[in-house]
Amino acid sequence: MNPIELSVIVPVYNEEQGLHALFDRLYPALDKLGVSYEVVFINDGSRDRSAAILREQFQKRPDVTRVVLFNGNFGQHMAIMAGFEHCRGQRIVTLDADLQNPPEDIGKLLAKMDEGHDYIGSIRRMRQDSWWRGVASRAMNRLRERITRIKMTDQGCMLRAYSRDIIDAINSCQEGNTFIPALAYTFAQSPAEVVVGHEERAVGESKYSLYSLIRLNFDLMTGFSVVPLQIFSFTGIIVSLLSAFFVVFLLIRRMIVGPEAEGLFTLFAIAFFLIGITLFGIGLLGEYIGRIYQQVRHRPRYLVQAILEKSE
Ligand code: UDP
Ligand code: MG
Repeated sequence: MNPIELSVIVPVYNEEQGLHALFDRLYPALDKLGVSYEVVFINDGSRDRSAAILREQFQKRPDVTRVVLFNGNFGQHMAIMAGFEHCRGQRIVTLDADLQNPPEDIGKLLAKMDEGHDYIGSIRRMRQDSWWRGVASRAMNRLRERITRIKMTDQGCMLRAYSRDIIDAINSCQEGNTFIPALAYTFAQSPAEVVVGHEERAVGESKYSLYSLIRLNFDLMTGFSVVPLQIFSFTGIIVSLLSAFFVVFLLIRRMIVGPEAEGLFTLFAIAFFLIGITLFGIGLLGEYIGRIYQQVRHRPRYLVQAILEKSE
C-alpha cells in the first residue's frame, strides 16, 4: 500500500445533528484534492448518537475512514492527541466537526505547506462567535503573546496543518493538559499562517462552557509559561520595597509630627487589595500544582474503547 499523504483529524462530541452535513462536505472536498487521505474521527464520549453515526460512516467508506472511540469525555485536545497517535498520514490536518471552518480550505493549508513550511496556522476571516468570546479571545491572545514565545495571530482556530515530524514530536510528549496549537508551535521550524473562512455554528451549540474555556486558557498559560508565577515574585518585591519606604517615612513622621491615628479605611483598602492579590497568587500556584499532581500520577490520559479500521 502506498503511504497515506493526508490525515484529517476530527474530534467529535455530541455532534449527531451536524455529522451528516460534515460527511457530505468533507469527503468530496478531500476527493477533489487528489491525494491519498484518511479521516480519523475521535468520539470523545458523546452521549448522543454520534458514535453510531460514525460507525455507519466507517462502514460506508472503510478505505479512508478510521474511528477511535473513547470510553469517556477527555476533552477536545486529548481527542486530537489520540488522533495524532492513530493517524498515518505524512501531513496532518485538524478540523472541528461543526463545520465552522470550511473543509474546502484544507487545500489552502496544503498549498502553503508546499512552499516549505512545516506548520500552518490559520486566522478566521470574520469570526462568527458570540461577542464576549471575541473580546475574551483577543485579551487572551495578547496575554499569551506577552508571556510566551508563541506567535500566533488567532490561537483559537483549530483548522491547522502539521508535518509528520511535528506530530512525531507531539506523540513523544506525555502532557496531560495541553493546548495543541501551542505545543505544535514549539516544535515548528518554519511556521506560517493562512486566512480561512469561518461560519456560525449551523446546528448544535458550542461544547465549551465559560468554565471549560477558562480551564483551557489556564492550560495554555500554565503549560507554556511560568511568567504568571514570576509576576507574583516581582509584585512581592515591589510591595516589600514600598512598605519599607513607608516604615521609614512613618518613623520620621513620628519623630517630627507625633503619633497619627487617622486613615483607618485607607489602611483597610490597602490591606484588602493586598489580600486579594495574595489569594489570587495562591490560586494561581494551585493551578500549577494541580497540573503537576495530575501529571505525576501517570494515569492514562484517555481510554480507548474501540478502534474501527480496515485491517491491512
Ligand atoms: N469537542 C470534543 N470534546 C469536548 C468539547 C468539544 O471533542 O469536550 C469537539 C467538538 O465536537 C468540536 C470541536 O471539539 O468538533 C470544537 O468544539 P466547539 O465547536 O463546541 O467549540 P467552539 O467552536 O465553540 O470553540
Ligand atoms: Mg465550533
